[in-house]
Amino acid sequence: MKKENEITFIFDSCSENESLARTVIAAFIARLDPTLGELSDVKTAVSEAVTNAVIHGYEGKEGKITIHSRIEGNTVRIEVSDRGVGIPDVTRAMEPLYTSKPEMERSGMGFAFMEAFMDDLEVVSTEGEGTTVKMRKTIYSALNLS
Ligand code: ATP
Ligand code: MG
Repeated sequence: MKKENEITFIFDSCSENESLARTVIAAFIARLDPTLGELSDVKTAVSEAVTNAVIHGYEGKEGKITIHSRIEGNTVRIEVSDRGVGIPDVTRAMEPLYTSKPEMERSGMGFAFMEAFMDDLEVVSTEGEGTTVKMRKTIYSALNLS
C-alpha cells in the first residue's frame, strides 16, 4: 500500500458541512483501519475545528473552509483553515472553558477536545486574516498493516 496520501477539499462555511467534513475525513483515514475509538476521536476533532470556523471564524457569514489532510505511514495530519476574523489571543482561546460567546451557550471546550483526542494540536491565527488548526494523530491499529 502507498505510504503517503493527500487530500485537500474546500467547502462553504455552514453548519450542514460539519458532517460532510467529518465523513470525508473518516473515509480518507479508513485505509489505516482505525478502531472505532480512533475514528470517533478524529471525527470529533474535525467537527470541533469546522464548527469553530463556521461560528467564530466567519460568525455565520459566508466564507470558505479548507481542509488539507495527509497520511504518512500510520499518522494522519489534518489542517482546517478559514479566512475569517482570526483569534486575538491564541493561548487564552485554547484554555479549557474559555469562550468568547458565552451568550450562545458555548462551553469553551472545543480546543480542549481537539487536544485530548489528537496527539498534537497547533493553532496559527492572525486577526483579520484567519485561522489554521493543525492536528496530528497516529493510528495504532494500523501498525499491524505492512
Ligand atoms: P465550544 O467549542 O465548547 O462550543 P467555543 O467554540 O467557544 O465553545 P473553543 O472551541 O475551545 O470553545 O474555542 C475557544 C475560543 O476560541 C472561541 O470562543 C473563539 O473565541 C476562539 N476561536 C476558536 N476557533 C476560532 C476560529 N476559527 N476563528 C476565530 N476564533 C476562534
Ligand atoms: Mg468550539
